[in-house]
Amino acid sequence: MNQFTFYNPVKLVFGKESLEQLSDMVKSFSNGNKVLLTYGGGSIKRTGLYDKVMERLSDFEVFELAGIEPNPRVETVRKGVEIVKEKQIDFIVAVGGGSVIDGTKLIAAAGKYEGDAWDIVTRKAEVKDAVPFGTVLTLSATGSEMNSGSVITNWETKEKLGWGSPLVFPKFSLLNPEVLYTLPEHQTVNGIIDSMSHLLEQYFNEANNTEVMDQMISGVMKTVMKTGPIAVKEPENYEARETLMLSSTVALNGFLRLGYIGDWATHNLEHAVSAVYDIAHGAGLAILFPEWMRYVSKKSPARFVKFAEDVFNVDASLSDDEKINFAIDALQNFWTSLGAKQKLSDYGVKEEDLEVFADKTLIYGPFGNFYKLQREDIIAIYKAAL
Ligand code: NAP
Ligand code: FE
Repeated sequence: MNQFTFYNPVKLVFGKESLEQLSDMVKSFSNGNKVLLTYGGGSIKRTGLYDKVMERLSDFEVFELAGIEPNPRVETVRKGVEIVKEKQIDFIVAVGGGSVIDGTKLIAAAGKYEGDAWDIVTRKAEVKDAVPFGTVLTLSATGSEMNSGSVITNWETKEKLGWGSPLVFPKFSLLNPEVLYTLPEHQTVNGIIDSMSHLLEQYFNEANNTEVMDQMISGVMKTVMKTGPIAVKEPENYEARETLMLSSTVALNGFLRLGYIGDWATHNLEHAVSAVYDIAHGAGLAILFPEWMRYVSKKSPARFVKFAEDVFNVDASLSDDEKINFAIDALQNFWTSLGAKQKLSDYGVKEEDLEVFADKTLIYGPFGNFYKLQREDIIAIYKAAL
Protein backbone atom coordinates (compact mmCIF):
# COMPACT_ATOMS: atom_id res chain seq x y z
CA MET A 1 0.00 0.00 0.00
CA ASN A 2 1.02 3.60 -0.38
CA GLN A 3 0.73 6.01 2.51
CA PHE A 4 -2.79 7.42 2.66
CA THR A 5 -5.16 9.73 4.48
CA PHE A 6 -8.86 8.93 4.33
CA TYR A 7 -11.41 11.72 4.56
CA ASN A 8 -15.10 11.59 3.77
CA PRO A 9 -17.41 14.03 5.56
CA VAL A 10 -20.70 13.14 3.79
CA LYS A 11 -23.59 12.43 6.12
CA LEU A 12 -25.36 9.48 4.49
CA VAL A 13 -28.97 8.73 5.35
CA PHE A 14 -30.10 5.44 3.84
CA GLY A 15 -33.58 3.89 3.84
CA LYS A 16 -37.27 4.29 3.01
CA GLU A 17 -37.83 7.25 5.33
CA SER A 18 -34.63 9.13 4.51
CA LEU A 19 -36.44 12.05 2.83
CA GLU A 20 -38.12 12.91 6.15
CA GLN A 21 -34.78 14.34 7.26
CA LEU A 22 -34.48 16.82 4.40
CA SER A 23 -35.67 19.93 6.20
CA ASP A 24 -33.62 19.31 9.36
CA MET A 25 -30.54 18.51 7.32
CA VAL A 26 -30.78 21.72 5.29
CA LYS A 27 -31.31 23.72 8.49
CA SER A 28 -28.29 22.16 10.13
CA PHE A 29 -25.94 22.92 7.23
CA SER A 30 -27.29 26.22 5.88
CA ASN A 31 -26.59 29.70 7.17
CA GLY A 32 -29.72 31.15 5.67
CA ASN A 33 -33.12 30.55 4.20
CA LYS A 34 -32.54 30.71 0.44
CA VAL A 35 -32.39 27.31 -1.22
CA LEU A 36 -31.72 26.47 -4.86
CA LEU A 37 -33.33 23.21 -5.96
CA THR A 38 -31.53 21.61 -8.92
CA TYR A 39 -32.89 18.74 -11.00
CA GLY A 40 -32.87 17.15 -14.42
CA GLY A 41 -35.24 16.81 -17.34
CA GLY A 42 -38.41 16.15 -15.40
CA SER A 43 -38.33 12.56 -14.11
CA ILE A 44 -38.78 13.86 -10.56
CA LYS A 45 -42.00 15.60 -11.59
CA ARG A 46 -43.34 12.44 -13.25
CA THR A 47 -42.52 10.26 -10.25
CA GLY A 48 -43.97 12.64 -7.67
CA LEU A 49 -40.65 13.14 -5.90
CA TYR A 50 -40.63 16.85 -6.76
CA ASP A 51 -43.83 17.44 -4.76
CA LYS A 52 -42.50 15.50 -1.79
CA VAL A 53 -39.27 17.51 -1.81
CA MET A 54 -41.08 20.85 -2.14
CA GLU A 55 -43.36 19.94 0.75
CA ARG A 56 -40.35 19.27 2.95
CA LEU A 57 -38.72 22.54 1.89
CA SER A 58 -41.76 24.64 2.80
CA ASP A 59 -39.81 26.51 5.50
CA PHE A 60 -37.38 27.86 2.91
CA GLU A 61 -37.48 30.32 0.06
CA VAL A 62 -36.90 27.96 -2.87
CA PHE A 63 -35.51 28.88 -6.30
CA GLU A 64 -35.20 26.29 -9.06
CA LEU A 65 -32.83 25.22 -11.79
CA ALA A 66 -34.43 22.50 -13.92
CA GLY A 67 -32.99 20.83 -16.98
CA ILE A 68 -29.54 19.65 -15.93
CA GLU A 69 -28.97 17.16 -18.73
CA PRO A 70 -27.48 13.66 -18.64
CA ASN A 71 -23.76 14.35 -19.25
CA PRO A 72 -24.29 17.76 -17.60
CA ARG A 73 -23.29 20.78 -19.64
CA VAL A 74 -21.39 23.83 -18.52
CA GLU A 75 -23.95 26.05 -20.27
CA THR A 76 -26.64 24.86 -17.85
CA VAL A 77 -24.29 25.14 -14.90
CA ARG A 78 -23.75 28.80 -15.80
CA LYS A 79 -27.49 29.40 -15.47
CA GLY A 80 -27.36 27.91 -11.97
CA VAL A 81 -24.36 30.05 -11.04
CA GLU A 82 -26.27 33.14 -12.12
CA ILE A 83 -29.15 32.26 -9.78
CA VAL A 84 -26.75 31.56 -6.90
CA LYS A 85 -25.08 34.95 -7.30
CA GLU A 86 -28.17 36.99 -8.05
CA LYS A 87 -30.34 35.53 -5.29
CA GLN A 88 -27.50 34.99 -2.82
CA ILE A 89 -28.36 31.34 -2.37
CA ASP A 90 -27.42 29.82 1.00
CA PHE A 91 -27.81 26.14 0.22
CA ILE A 92 -28.38 23.90 -2.83
CA VAL A 93 -30.47 20.72 -2.87
CA ALA A 94 -29.72 18.45 -5.85
CA VAL A 95 -32.40 15.88 -6.68
CA GLY A 96 -31.31 13.43 -9.34
CA GLY A 97 -28.63 11.08 -10.58
CA GLY A 98 -24.91 11.62 -11.10
CA SER A 99 -25.48 14.28 -13.75
CA VAL A 100 -27.59 16.54 -11.53
CA ILE A 101 -25.18 16.06 -8.63
CA ASP A 102 -22.08 16.68 -10.76
CA GLY A 103 -23.64 19.79 -12.27
CA THR A 104 -24.56 20.99 -8.80
CA LYS A 105 -20.99 20.52 -7.57
CA LEU A 106 -19.80 22.93 -10.24
CA ILE A 107 -22.63 25.39 -9.50
CA ALA A 108 -21.59 25.25 -5.84
CA ALA A 109 -17.93 25.97 -6.59
CA ALA A 110 -18.46 28.49 -9.40
CA GLY A 111 -21.08 30.26 -7.30
CA LYS A 112 -18.20 31.44 -5.13
CA TYR A 113 -15.83 32.22 -7.99
CA GLU A 114 -15.71 35.44 -9.99
CA GLY A 115 -14.66 33.99 -13.33
CA ASP A 116 -16.27 31.41 -15.60
CA ALA A 117 -17.26 27.95 -14.32
CA TRP A 118 -15.27 26.21 -17.07
CA ASP A 119 -12.00 27.58 -15.53
CA ILE A 120 -12.62 25.31 -12.57
CA VAL A 121 -13.14 22.23 -14.73
CA THR A 122 -10.01 22.92 -16.76
CA ARG A 123 -8.07 23.54 -13.53
CA LYS A 124 -7.19 27.12 -14.47
CA ALA A 125 -8.85 28.23 -11.25
CA GLU A 126 -8.47 26.62 -7.85
CA VAL A 127 -11.62 26.05 -5.80
CA LYS A 128 -11.33 28.18 -2.66
CA ASP A 129 -14.93 28.12 -1.46
CA ALA A 130 -18.27 26.55 -2.36
CA VAL A 131 -21.95 26.96 -1.55
CA PRO A 132 -22.95 24.07 0.72
CA PHE A 133 -25.25 21.49 -0.87
CA GLY A 134 -26.98 18.19 -0.18
CA THR A 135 -28.43 15.54 -2.45
CA VAL A 136 -31.48 13.33 -2.86
CA LEU A 137 -30.24 10.50 -5.07
CA THR A 138 -32.55 9.06 -7.76
CA LEU A 139 -30.15 6.85 -9.74
CA SER A 140 -27.53 4.63 -8.20
CA ALA A 141 -24.43 4.46 -10.38
CA THR A 142 -21.77 7.11 -10.02
CA GLY A 143 -21.11 7.40 -6.29
CA SER A 144 -21.22 11.18 -6.79
CA GLU A 145 -23.55 11.39 -3.78
CA MET A 146 -20.66 10.52 -1.50
CA ASN A 147 -17.56 11.80 -3.28
CA SER A 148 -16.00 15.08 -4.29
CA GLY A 149 -15.61 14.46 -8.02
CA SER A 150 -17.63 15.79 -10.95
CA VAL A 151 -17.63 15.34 -14.72
CA ILE A 152 -18.79 18.20 -16.94
CA THR A 153 -19.31 18.48 -20.68
CA ASN A 154 -18.60 21.54 -22.79
CA TRP A 155 -20.71 21.03 -25.88
CA GLU A 156 -19.09 23.96 -27.73
CA THR A 157 -15.58 22.53 -27.48
CA LYS A 158 -16.79 18.90 -27.35
CA GLU A 159 -14.88 18.22 -24.16
CA LYS A 160 -15.96 16.14 -21.18
CA LEU A 161 -13.64 16.57 -18.22
CA GLY A 162 -13.45 15.42 -14.64
CA TRP A 163 -12.48 17.71 -11.77
CA GLY A 164 -12.83 17.63 -8.01
CA SER A 165 -12.23 19.41 -4.74
CA PRO A 166 -12.68 18.48 -1.08
CA LEU A 167 -14.91 21.57 -0.92
CA VAL A 168 -17.58 19.88 -3.05
CA PHE A 169 -18.36 16.85 -0.94
CA PRO A 170 -22.14 16.96 -0.40
CA LYS A 171 -23.01 17.90 3.19
CA PHE A 172 -25.55 15.07 3.19
CA SER A 173 -27.10 12.56 0.83
CA LEU A 174 -30.51 10.99 1.30
CA LEU A 175 -30.86 7.55 -0.30
CA ASN A 176 -34.21 5.79 -0.55
CA PRO A 177 -33.96 2.61 -2.68
CA GLU A 178 -37.67 2.89 -3.55
CA VAL A 179 -37.03 5.91 -5.79
CA LEU A 180 -35.09 3.58 -8.11
CA TYR A 181 -38.27 1.64 -9.01
CA THR A 182 -39.11 4.12 -11.78
CA LEU A 183 -35.76 3.90 -13.57
CA PRO A 184 -35.95 2.85 -17.21
CA GLU A 185 -34.33 -0.59 -17.57
CA HIS A 186 -31.33 0.70 -19.53
CA GLN A 187 -30.54 3.22 -16.76
CA THR A 188 -30.53 0.44 -14.18
CA VAL A 189 -28.16 -1.47 -16.46
CA ASN A 190 -25.90 1.54 -17.03
CA GLY A 191 -25.75 2.03 -13.27
CA ILE A 192 -24.66 -1.56 -12.75
CA ILE A 193 -21.95 -1.19 -15.38
CA ASP A 194 -20.70 2.16 -14.05
CA SER A 195 -20.43 0.95 -10.47
CA MET A 196 -18.65 -2.22 -11.60
CA SER A 197 -16.29 -0.09 -13.68
CA HIS A 198 -15.43 1.96 -10.60
CA LEU A 199 -14.56 -1.27 -8.82
CA LEU A 200 -12.40 -2.34 -11.77
CA GLU A 201 -10.60 1.01 -11.99
CA GLN A 202 -9.61 0.62 -8.36
CA TYR A 203 -8.77 -3.09 -8.49
CA PHE A 204 -6.23 -2.35 -11.24
CA ASN A 205 -4.05 0.02 -9.25
CA GLU A 206 -0.50 1.16 -8.89
CA ALA A 207 0.25 -0.15 -5.37
CA ASN A 208 1.57 -3.41 -3.94
CA ASN A 209 -0.08 -5.51 -1.26
CA THR A 210 -3.65 -4.29 -1.53
CA GLU A 211 -5.17 -7.55 -0.32
CA VAL A 212 -7.73 -6.01 2.03
CA MET A 213 -9.03 -3.78 -0.75
CA ASP A 214 -8.81 -6.61 -3.33
CA GLN A 215 -11.12 -8.75 -1.25
CA MET A 216 -13.54 -5.92 -0.46
CA ILE A 217 -13.71 -4.94 -4.13
CA SER A 218 -14.19 -8.54 -5.24
CA GLY A 219 -16.92 -8.98 -2.66
CA VAL A 220 -18.83 -5.91 -3.85
CA MET A 221 -18.30 -6.93 -7.48
CA LYS A 222 -19.71 -10.42 -6.92
CA THR A 223 -22.64 -8.93 -5.02
CA VAL A 224 -23.47 -6.57 -7.89
CA MET A 225 -23.23 -9.42 -10.42
CA LYS A 226 -25.57 -11.55 -8.34
CA THR A 227 -28.07 -8.79 -7.59
CA GLY A 228 -28.03 -6.75 -10.82
CA PRO A 229 -30.07 -9.20 -12.92
CA ILE A 230 -32.70 -9.43 -10.16
CA ALA A 231 -33.21 -5.64 -10.13
CA VAL A 232 -33.43 -5.61 -13.93
CA LYS A 233 -36.07 -8.35 -13.94
CA GLU A 234 -37.97 -7.13 -10.89
CA PRO A 235 -37.63 -3.32 -10.78
CA GLU A 236 -39.61 -3.12 -7.53
CA ASN A 237 -37.60 -5.70 -5.64
CA TYR A 238 -36.63 -3.61 -2.61
CA GLU A 239 -33.80 -5.82 -1.42
CA ALA A 240 -32.16 -5.90 -4.83
CA ARG A 241 -32.45 -2.10 -5.18
CA GLU A 242 -31.10 -1.55 -1.68
CA THR A 243 -28.12 -3.82 -2.32
CA LEU A 244 -27.27 -2.15 -5.62
CA MET A 245 -27.72 1.35 -4.21
CA LEU A 246 -25.32 0.75 -1.36
CA SER A 247 -22.89 -1.04 -3.69
CA SER A 248 -22.63 1.88 -6.07
CA THR A 249 -22.15 4.33 -3.21
CA VAL A 250 -19.30 2.37 -1.59
CA ALA A 251 -17.82 1.64 -5.00
CA LEU A 252 -16.75 5.26 -5.30
CA ASN A 253 -16.80 6.97 -1.93
CA GLY A 254 -13.05 6.55 -1.41
CA PHE A 255 -13.36 3.63 0.98
CA LEU A 256 -12.27 1.05 -1.61
CA ARG A 257 -9.18 2.93 -2.57
CA LEU A 258 -7.27 3.16 0.66
CA GLY A 259 -3.59 3.13 -0.22
CA TYR A 260 -3.77 3.81 -3.96
CA ILE A 261 -5.52 5.87 -6.63
CA GLY A 262 -6.58 3.23 -9.13
CA ASP A 263 -6.07 3.18 -12.88
CA TRP A 264 -8.89 5.38 -14.30
CA ALA A 265 -7.70 5.18 -17.92
CA THR A 266 -10.95 3.61 -19.14
CA HIS A 267 -13.02 6.42 -17.65
CA ASN A 268 -10.88 8.87 -19.59
CA LEU A 269 -11.31 6.81 -22.78
CA GLU A 270 -15.08 6.81 -22.24
CA HIS A 271 -15.38 10.52 -21.51
CA ALA A 272 -13.80 11.33 -24.88
CA VAL A 273 -16.42 9.20 -26.63
CA SER A 274 -19.41 10.61 -24.79
CA ALA A 275 -18.07 14.16 -25.30
CA VAL A 276 -18.61 13.68 -29.02
CA TYR A 277 -21.47 11.16 -29.24
CA ASP A 278 -23.40 11.96 -26.04
CA ILE A 279 -23.89 8.27 -25.23
CA ALA A 280 -24.59 7.11 -21.68
CA HIS A 281 -21.46 6.74 -19.56
CA GLY A 282 -22.24 3.12 -18.60
CA ALA A 283 -22.94 2.16 -22.20
CA GLY A 284 -19.51 3.44 -23.28
CA LEU A 285 -17.73 1.72 -20.39
CA ALA A 286 -19.34 -1.64 -21.23
CA ILE A 287 -17.64 -1.51 -24.60
CA LEU A 288 -14.29 -0.02 -23.60
CA PHE A 289 -13.47 -1.85 -20.36
CA PRO A 290 -13.21 -5.36 -21.87
CA GLU A 291 -10.96 -3.99 -24.63
CA TRP A 292 -8.76 -2.12 -22.14
CA MET A 293 -8.45 -5.38 -20.20
CA ARG A 294 -7.60 -7.45 -23.28
CA TYR A 295 -4.94 -4.95 -24.31
CA VAL A 296 -3.33 -4.25 -20.95
CA SER A 297 -3.44 -7.90 -19.79
CA LYS A 298 -1.00 -8.71 -22.61
CA LYS A 299 1.46 -6.16 -21.18
CA SER A 300 0.98 -6.81 -17.47
CA PRO A 301 -0.80 -10.15 -16.94
CA ALA A 302 -0.22 -11.01 -13.27
CA ARG A 303 -2.88 -8.71 -11.86
CA PHE A 304 -5.44 -10.00 -14.36
CA VAL A 305 -4.79 -13.58 -13.27
CA LYS A 306 -5.46 -12.54 -9.67
CA PHE A 307 -8.61 -10.73 -10.79
CA ALA A 308 -9.85 -13.91 -12.50
CA GLU A 309 -9.19 -15.85 -9.30
CA ASP A 310 -10.65 -13.27 -6.89
CA VAL A 311 -13.81 -12.45 -8.81
CA PHE A 312 -14.51 -15.47 -11.03
CA ASN A 313 -12.96 -18.27 -8.94
CA VAL A 314 -11.41 -19.64 -12.14
CA ASP A 315 -10.38 -23.27 -12.35
CA ALA A 316 -6.84 -23.61 -10.97
CA SER A 317 -5.90 -26.03 -13.74
CA LEU A 318 -6.27 -23.36 -16.44
CA SER A 319 -3.20 -21.58 -17.84
CA ASP A 320 -2.75 -17.89 -17.00
CA ASP A 321 -3.92 -16.89 -20.47
CA GLU A 322 -7.00 -19.05 -20.18
CA LYS A 323 -7.83 -17.58 -16.78
CA ILE A 324 -7.54 -14.03 -18.10
CA ASN A 325 -9.61 -14.72 -21.20
CA PHE A 326 -12.25 -16.48 -19.16
CA ALA A 327 -12.61 -13.53 -16.78
CA ILE A 328 -12.76 -10.84 -19.47
CA ASP A 329 -15.26 -12.82 -21.56
CA ALA A 330 -17.38 -13.54 -18.49
CA LEU A 331 -17.46 -9.86 -17.58
CA GLN A 332 -18.39 -8.78 -21.11
CA ASN A 333 -21.00 -11.53 -21.43
CA PHE A 334 -22.54 -10.45 -18.15
CA TRP A 335 -22.95 -6.89 -19.39
CA THR A 336 -24.22 -8.07 -22.78
CA SER A 337 -26.75 -10.33 -21.08
CA LEU A 338 -28.18 -7.21 -19.42
CA GLY A 339 -28.53 -5.53 -22.81
CA ALA A 340 -25.25 -3.60 -23.19
CA LYS A 341 -23.83 -3.21 -26.68
CA GLN A 342 -20.31 -4.45 -27.52
CA LYS A 343 -19.10 -2.09 -30.22
CA LEU A 344 -18.68 1.69 -30.55
CA SER A 345 -19.96 1.43 -34.14
CA ASP A 346 -23.34 0.40 -32.65
CA TYR A 347 -23.55 4.08 -31.60
CA GLY A 348 -22.44 5.41 -34.99
CA VAL A 349 -18.75 5.91 -34.13
CA LYS A 350 -16.54 5.83 -37.21
CA GLU A 351 -12.86 5.01 -37.66
CA GLU A 352 -11.97 8.65 -38.37
CA ASP A 353 -13.32 9.60 -34.92
CA LEU A 354 -10.66 7.59 -33.12
CA GLU A 355 -7.83 10.12 -33.57
CA VAL A 356 -10.18 12.86 -32.36
CA PHE A 357 -11.00 10.83 -29.24
CA ALA A 358 -7.28 10.16 -28.66
CA ASP A 359 -6.51 13.91 -28.80
CA LYS A 360 -9.16 14.54 -26.16
CA THR A 361 -7.91 11.84 -23.82
CA LEU A 362 -4.37 13.19 -24.01
CA ILE A 363 -5.20 16.72 -22.86
CA TYR A 364 -3.19 16.16 -19.66
CA GLY A 365 -0.69 13.74 -21.32
CA PRO A 366 -0.40 9.92 -21.20
CA PHE A 367 -2.69 8.45 -18.53
CA GLY A 368 -3.50 5.37 -16.45
CA ASN A 369 -1.90 4.67 -13.08
CA PHE A 370 -1.81 0.86 -13.41
CA TYR A 371 -0.61 0.95 -17.01
CA LYS A 372 0.24 4.26 -18.67
CA LEU A 373 -1.37 4.52 -22.09
CA GLN A 374 0.49 6.28 -24.89
CA ARG A 375 -1.16 7.39 -28.12
CA GLU A 376 -0.57 4.08 -29.94
CA ASP A 377 -2.07 2.12 -27.03
CA ILE A 378 -5.13 4.37 -26.99
CA ILE A 379 -5.73 3.97 -30.72
CA ALA A 380 -5.28 0.19 -30.47
CA ILE A 381 -7.91 -0.04 -27.71
CA TYR A 382 -10.37 2.21 -29.57
CA LYS A 383 -9.86 0.15 -32.76
CA ALA A 384 -10.58 -3.08 -30.93
CA ALA A 385 -13.73 -1.46 -29.51
CA LEU A 386 -14.94 -0.06 -32.85
P1 NAP B 1 -27.88 10.62 -15.09
O1 NAP B 1 -27.24 11.17 -16.32
O2 NAP B 1 -27.86 11.41 -13.85
O3 NAP B 1 -29.39 10.25 -15.40
C1 NAP B 1 -29.74 9.51 -16.55
C2 NAP B 1 -31.23 9.58 -16.83
O4 NAP B 1 -31.96 8.90 -15.82
C3 NAP B 1 -31.79 10.99 -16.90
O5 NAP B 1 -32.45 11.10 -18.12
C4 NAP B 1 -32.75 11.07 -15.72
O6 NAP B 1 -33.92 11.80 -16.03
C5 NAP B 1 -33.14 9.64 -15.50
N1 NAP B 1 -33.48 9.32 -14.11
C6 NAP B 1 -32.73 9.55 -13.00
N2 NAP B 1 -33.34 9.07 -11.90
C7 NAP B 1 -34.53 8.53 -12.32
C8 NAP B 1 -35.59 7.85 -11.66
N3 NAP B 1 -35.53 7.58 -10.35
N4 NAP B 1 -36.65 7.46 -12.41
C9 NAP B 1 -36.69 7.68 -13.75
N5 NAP B 1 -35.70 8.28 -14.42
C10 NAP B 1 -34.62 8.70 -13.73
O7 NAP B 1 -27.21 9.18 -14.83
P2 NAP B 1 -25.96 8.79 -13.94
O8 NAP B 1 -25.48 7.52 -14.52
O9 NAP B 1 -26.29 8.82 -12.51
O10 NAP B 1 -24.88 9.94 -14.20
C11 NAP B 1 -24.06 9.93 -15.33
C12 NAP B 1 -23.07 11.08 -15.29
O11 NAP B 1 -22.22 10.98 -14.13
C13 NAP B 1 -22.14 11.07 -16.48
O12 NAP B 1 -21.91 12.39 -16.93
C14 NAP B 1 -20.86 10.47 -15.92
O13 NAP B 1 -19.71 10.82 -16.66
C15 NAP B 1 -20.85 11.02 -14.53
N6 NAP B 1 -20.04 10.28 -13.54
C16 NAP B 1 -19.69 10.93 -12.39
C17 NAP B 1 -18.93 10.30 -11.41
C18 NAP B 1 -18.57 11.01 -10.14
O14 NAP B 1 -17.92 10.43 -9.29
N7 NAP B 1 -18.93 12.24 -9.99
C19 NAP B 1 -18.53 8.97 -11.59
C20 NAP B 1 -18.91 8.32 -12.77
C21 NAP B 1 -19.66 8.98 -13.72
P3 NAP B 1 -34.14 13.34 -15.59
O15 NAP B 1 -33.02 14.13 -16.14
O16 NAP B 1 -35.46 13.65 -16.20
O17 NAP B 1 -34.19 13.36 -14.09
FE1 FE C 1 -18.08 6.27 -13.84
